[in-house]
Amino acid sequence: MADILYKYKDSVYANITNKCNCSCTFCIRSQKDGIGSADTLWHETNPTKEEVVEAIRNYDFDGFEELVFCGYGEPTCALDTLLLAAKVAKEEKHLKTRLNTNGLGNEENGRNIVPELSKVIDSVSISLNAPDTARYQEVTRPRFDDGFSKMVDFATKCKGQIGEVKWSIVDVLPETDIEKCRQLSDQTGIQLRIRHFT
Ligand code: SF4
Repeated sequence: MADILYKYKDSVYANITNKCNCSCTFCIRSQKDGIGSADTLWHETNPTKEEVVEAIRNYDFDGFEELVFCGYGEPTCALDTLLLAAKVAKEEKHLKTRLNTNGLGNEENGRNIVPELSKVIDSVSISLNAPDTARYQEVTRPRFDDGFSKMVDFATKCKGQIGEVKWSIVDVLPETDIEKCRQLSDQTGIQLRIRHFT
C-alpha cells in the first residue's frame, strides 16, 4: 500500500494520485518506486478524497509548517481531492500549502482552475523544463498539443492570484536553454528556481 503522506528532506508531501498527463523523459517514477520516507509511491488504486483527508487529519505535523502536494503523479489530475485536502490542511492543521505541478491543470480540467487554487494554495512551483515549445514537447511528452504555451499561460494566470509563484528547472539543461528560461522569467516576472539535479 503506497503512502499518501511522506517525508522528504524537511517537508511533508502528499501523494494524492498516480495519474499524469505527461510522460517526461526524466521522470523519477521510471527510476525508483519511492522517495524519502515512502518505500513506494505507487497506489494500488488512487486514493479517494476522503482517504486523503483522513490521512491529513491523522498525521502528526509537529515541527512542520507546510504540506507540499507532489507525488508520483500530477496533483491537478485529481483536482477535487487537491482542493479539499489543501482546505483541510490549512483550516484544520494550520499549514501552508504548496503545489508542485506541471502547469497543465487548466487543460486537464477544461477550465481556468487558478481562482479555485488561489483559495487554498499559498505557493506554486511549476516545472518549466524547457525554454520553448519544441524542446518542451520532446522532454515532457504531454498529452496536449502545444503544452508549453498552455503551461506558460497557467503560470501567468497564477501570478497575481497566488502568493508565491515560481518556475523550476534543473541545472542539467544546456547553458543556452537556461539563459532562455531566465529571459522568459524576466519577461513574465515569474521567479526562476534552478535546482541541482540529483
Ligand atoms: S509531470 Fe511529473 S509525474 Fe508526470 S511524467 Fe513529468 S515528472 Fe513524471
